[in-house]
Amino acid sequence: MSRNQSIPFDTAHTLRRLGIKRGARLLVHSSLKLLGWVEGGADAVIDAILGTVEESGTVMMPAFTFPPVEVFDPANTPTTMGAISEAFRKRPDVTRSVHPTHSVSVWGAEKDRLAAGHETATALGIGSPVHLILDEGGDIILLGVGHWANSAVHVAEAIARVPYLDIPYSDQYARPLRARLSDGSIREFEPKENPGCSINFTAVEQPLKQHGFIAYHREGNVLAQRISGRGLLEVLPRMLSSNPLFLLCSWDLCPFCPNVKSSYKNTQ
Ligand SMILES: [Zn+2]
Repeated sequence: MSRNQSIPFDTAHTLRRLGIKRGARLLVHSSLKLLGWVEGGADAVIDAILGTVEESGTVMMPAFTFPPVEVFDPANTPTTMGAISEAFRKRPDVTRSVHPTHSVSVWGAEKDRLAAGHETATALGIGSPVHLILDEGGDIILLGVGHWANSAVHVAEAIARVPYLDIPYSDQYARPLRARLSDGSIREFEPKENPGCSINFTAVEQPLKQHGFIAYHREGNVLAQRISGRGLLEVLPRMLSSNPLFLLCSWDLCPFCPNVKSSYKNTQ
């Protein structure tokens, strides 16, 4: 993708064109690889995001860990969400929430409040950091990635109480998982409201676009998107209430969706 790209990807310019201003609250999903040529790499992307929202703003990134490790340790367990999220997690002024699989990293004015309490909420359910930032007017930014990376859609699934909410994604998630709390003690997390499959989340783009909840900017080969968090919370739970399985994928080898579809059919 980057072979013919003659100009480096400009994060600050992209965010400006998406209408991001000082004080914004952002949930950022990204792929350094899919951005192509970036001068300064992951840290330059992060600096540009923080420089755009400034001190009064808030930036959240996923710091998820797949597959689960023996004991999740927020200070040391790497995230598997890519180079930008991993560089962000390691910054000294970033707070990481405590959840064995779906922790988030947060920077800025609201970081401690948003990260707090994840250990008593669910991964991406009601009261989780991602739910809070959307509910409080935050925007989702997709940098180089599509809606298959838009974890906020899982919040809509939790709000709509989709019938597969408590079905584990795979055997690895069908047991209590453990995480280290800030006082050093270990907490067990019961396997409930584990987010399922996101392959078919591309299905949310058209309806969100039709409602005017997505802004786009194309920068070279990279398509960037800004999605209204409140807009997503308004539209998607309603769609899921009338069609609870529309976010499941059709991939035969998916460890999750075929199971859910067949068990749902058997209970109807
Ligand atoms: Zn699937």
